[in-house]
Order: sequence, then C-alpha cells, then structure tokens
Amino acid sequence: MSSVKYMLNPDLVKRQQMAVEYVQQPCEDTLGIVTWGTRGSKDVCAANKMHYGGNTSCWELKSRFFHPEMKFYIDAGGGMQPAGEAAGPFIGDILRGLDHLVLIGFSHYHWDHIVGLPFSGYPFIDRTCLYVFGPKSGRIGPKEALEQGSLKKPFFPVPFQEIGHHFQFKGIRQTTTTVGLIHKDVLGIEWISKILYQKKMNNPKATVEIPRVHYSPEYRKKTTVSLRECTKIFMNSTFHPDPTITYCFEMPNGERFVLLTDHELQESVSLGMLQLLQDADCMIVDCQYKFEEYKNMYTGWGHGCDEYVVTLAKKANIGFSLLHHHDPKRTDSGVDILTNNVAKSCPDTVAAGDYGILIIK
Ligand SMILES: [Zn+2]
Ligand SMILES: [Zn+2]
Repeated sequence: MSSVKYMLNPDLVKRQQMAVEYVQQPCEDTLGIVTWGTRGSKDVCAANKMHYGGNTSCWELKSRFFHPEMKFYIDAGGGMQPAGEAAGPFIGDILRGLDHLVLIGFSHYHWDHIVGLPFSGYPFIDRTCLYVFGPKSGRIGPKEALEQGSLKKPFFPVPFQEIGHHFQFKGIRQTTTTVGLIHKDVLGIEWISKILYQKKMNNPKATVEIPRVHYSPEYRKKTTVSLRECTKIFMNSTFHPDPTITYCFEMPNGERFVLLTDHELQESVSLGMLQLLQDADCMIVDCQYKFEEYKNMYTGWGHGCDEYVVTLAKKANIGFSLLHHHDPKRTDSGVDILTNNVAKSCPDTVAAGDYGILIIK
C-alpha cells in the first residue's frame, strides 16, 4: 500500500527553499514531484493569489528508480524558470563535463506549457544532453513547436537554429500504443510498441536495450537492462483543443501516478482514459472551473471542473487527487472553495500550489 503526501508550506519563502533542497538531494522516494507551476492558461502575480501561486505548468519528477544524474520535467510553463534556477549545481556539473541527461516531456504546446523553457538555462548550454518529447500530429511535434513557437524570432531574440544542435526530439504519434522506458542505470530513454511490451512482460527475465541520450551520435550506445526494473510511461490523448497527452508513470514497484492536465472532463469517461487511470495511487488533474462556470461559459474550452473530477476519481478509484491548472482569475479562497467541493466526496483531495512537493513512498 502506497503512502501519498503533499507538502505546501504556508510560508512561501520556506516552501521554495524546501523545493530547492528537495531537487538538489539524492532521491529516496518511489516518486517525488515538485510542482514548480500550477496555474492554468497564463502566469499571474497578485496579492490574493499568492498562496497557490502564479507560475504556469511545470513539474519536476525525482525517483530512486531514476539515474541520479538525470533531470526530468513534464511541461515547461512559467514554473520552468525557478526550476532551472534550482538546477544551478546540476548545470555546474554539465559545465564541468560530467555525464547527465535532461528529459523534458510536453503534454502539449500551448503557451502556458512551453513559455518557460528558454528561461531554464538548459537550451543555452552547448553540452547539455537535452531530450524533448511530446505529441506529434501532422507536421507539428516538439521540435517544430520550439522552432516555430517559443524559440522563433521576433517572439524570442535567439532563434532555435542557433541553439538547437544539442537537442534530441521524439514526437509521439501513437499515444495509446507506445510505451516509454527509463532505467536507473542508463542516462537514456527508449520507446517500444505496447504489443511488444506486453509480449515481453510475459517473461520475468525480459530485457530491453536503452540508448544513451547524447548530443553526439557516437556516444549513443545501448545498454541492456531488465524490463521489470524500468519505469514505464503509458499515455492517452486528452480532450483538449490541440493534441495533448496524459502521462501515466508506473514505477518498478507497481505504484502509478497520472498527470492529467488540460483535459475537459465530462460526465462519462472514455474507456481508454479509464484504463490508464484505474487504481492510480495519485493523479494531478485539471480542475480549472466550478461546475456552473463550466456549464454556463466554458464548455468546449478544454478544461476540467470540480464535479467531474469527483466523477473521474470515483470511477477510476484514484487514491489521491491533486487539483491543478487553477484559472488565472481564481483567488486563493476561490481555489479553496473549489477544492472543498471535490473533497466533500473525495476526501483525499488537495489543491496544488507552486513549489509544493508531492511524495509517493
Ligand atoms: Zn494549460
Ligand atoms: Zn492547453
């Protein structure tokens, strides 16, 4: 039985210090997630929004099952800037030439999920082994989103062409039939088909080869590891105006964590989503609106509401729910009201805030 706790110190200064310390220490937890940014749609700063904060989406994942020299982020909204600041010692290691890997996964490419990447520091360090993955649809994947979006003149002064040579990209077209694999002994990541994955999992001794991520192809050699010792990344598409991925991380000890952002929850839950979420120990979930707001004004905008978080959490038997993607107009007391609405039916529910730490043991 897993234990899940979320720490959100009321003192913002202490809270940020705790987050910085947490990411700079070796991790002993099954999974630890620093919620660097939890606001939806747009970064905000206002006296009545200070408790939950105003940075847009960015999560940093740590685990005893990850390579100690690997940094792993999902989404790079405004919260990616303080995340990059907290990575100072790690960036120092990169500059000293030590082995490392920076993984960045995107749920999608709306501004509030990509705007912080140029301010994280990583894109400007030539020797960063930087691997970026996210949805690919038509011609647009993670590379194009940066090249034609957040790293394009005149929207940003430094064009992608000047700094992109040390990036590696993976555009994911087949979300439901692809599985990502990470192993603590390899500074890399591999993607295999779900059919192959299921076939291999029948054999307890099955192995998989994971290539090293490196900016220079000559160093991308493969290492053979046990499949069962890998962290698995499963995916599904969310209901949102542009292609968006829900990520489910299954740790080698079986505990599961789901990141469901930018998803318009509805009364019914699709079978694919239900299968991905079923019995997850924890989910971070989009809860931007109150039910009345959703019904009266925001149907079709691609975001969740309190009533349907309850529906989903109950149907999928979720252990712990962390509400996220707070509306830019929502005050702290407004977030509390929304959270209480969900917690009345699902007591293991709290609201995420910037610099909080979620720990799954
Ligand atoms: Zn968003
Ligand atoms: Zn979005």
